[in-house]
Amino acid sequence: AFDVLVVGGGPAGAAAAIYAARKGIRTGVVAERFGGQVLDTLGIENFISVRETEGPKLVAAMEAHVRDYEVDVMNLQRASKLVPASQSADGLNEVHLESGATLRARSLVIATGARWREMGVPGEAQYRNKGVAYCPHCDGPLFKGKRVAVIGGGNSGVEAAIDLAGIVARVTLIEFDSKLRADEVLQRKLRSLPNVEVILHAQTTEVLGDGQRVTGLQYRDRGDLVMNTLELEGIFVQIGLLPNTEWLKGTLELSPRGEIVIDDRAQTSLPGVMAAGDVTTVPYKQIVIAMGEGSKAALSAFDHLIRVPVA
Ligand code: FAD
Repeated sequence: AFDVLVVGGGPAGAAAAIYAARKGIRTGVVAERFGGQVLDTLGIENFISVRETEGPKLVAAMEAHVRDYEVDVMNLQRASKLVPASQSADGLNEVHLESGATLRARSLVIATGARWREMGVPGEAQYRNKGVAYCPHCDGPLFKGKRVAVIGGGNSGVEAAIDLAGIVARVTLIEFDSKLRADEVLQRKLRSLPNVEVILHAQTTEVLGDGQRVTGLQYRDRGDLVMNTLELEGIFVQIGLLPNTEWLKGTLELSPRGEIVIDDRAQTSLPGVMAAGDVTTVPYKQIVIAMGEGSKAALSAFDHLIRVPVA
């Protein structure tokens, strides 16, 4: 059995694996896709101390760093079920894999990340990273002086529009409903900004481009059903971040949004089970934050292990 089994191989999982292995304890990482969301990222300019890098490059460096240690890396394996130590036959946590195998561990770090909800309209996938973006903290500065749309009028959409308004030339916020759902204080701030326009009751129907990059967006007015076109260079999709916790439902405490609830030591509601990164309730989903959280979770798992008798 592992002392620490990390589920997920993104920045949070990689950091957890390195911190655990450096304690000289038996460490494993099981990941559906080592690298996680970073694999899908083109330019990264906010990974502190590295002025500019690309996702696949950072993933290669992360993997090399993990493999410097005695870590059992099990890539391309998807966890489908967790049986906590309190319910298993031998008092160890069990992680069941889709392949049919079962991994056992005295403690776990769950770092299965999250995925952005997509609009599912023509052009969105084609122009992803070519004008279609999901993270204003990451990609906002790439659109300096340009025209962008933000899709979604909840808190994250309105926050993104306020954030982007300070960087770009013009922001058009598009909301499906006939009113914004963001907190009133955010809406007030939004309305005070001269370069933001809000379009309500509108359904985005297509991302337009020239084959290379985004050139516009098409939407349908849900009142008169008229199709309209906006000319712009960027589209930020802010219609939700979905945590990868479907496989955990009913085992540990999740927030109403489906995120794993953790305390300030990365502990979940299950003893010996820690969680880190985008899959948790920790605010601001970023690479440096996920790495910090993964490190914290591994130290916390170690603290747990030295306090419980060996099974
Ligand atoms: P993830 O990166 O999501 O990794 C999750 C891991 O868990 C993956 O290995 C996945 O395969 C695995 N997994 C999921 N489910 C299971 C399962 N059931 N069983 C086994 N394994 C599973 N952040 C920045 O700081 N700067 C940027 O410039 C930046 N740009 C971004 C651009 C894009 C397009 C995207 C999508 C995100 C960007 N982010 C950026 C956000 C950043 O990538 C995330 O905050 C970070 O990757 C979160 O790390 P994580 O380890 O928590 O989760």
